Amino acid sequence: MWSQRAVVDYGLQRRSTLQALFRGAASTADVCDADPYLLRAAKHHGEATETPCPVCRRAPLIHLTYVFGDELGIYSGRIRATRELEPMAREHGEFRVYVVEVCRECAWNHLTMSYVLGDGVQRERPRRRTRAADA
Ligand SMILES: [Zn+2]
Repeated sequence: MWSQRAVVDYGLQRRSTLQALFRGAASTADVCDADPYLLRAAKHHGEATETPCPVCRRAPLIHLTYVFGDELGIYSGRIRATRELEPMAREHGEFRVYVVEVCRECAWNHLTMSYVLGDGVQRERPRRRTRAADA
């Protein structure tokens, strides 16, 4: 993707988690622990991939994309569709994207990667209502 920076690939942790599972050092209860909220989010906002779940192989993995950043204000921590990221990157100086994979069959979930997007020009943070109310 265009202008991705500070990319963190969690592939190594993901592999070691899966290896622990397959050699019996971890149970599916340990690693397939997506909570109901995450599973619901995957159902309604997730983007299906063509990769089968590495644990149960019964369903394709769903990607959920979360965005975090001071500039995003109340929208920090929300889920965004991949197609929404490019316009967001033009509107904001910097925000971090986290992509989580989820299996809706067995509740496997793992962070896959994160990266920073934005045009690098810092914007003013949105005002916080609570602070205004305190003043
Ligand atoms: Zn699965």
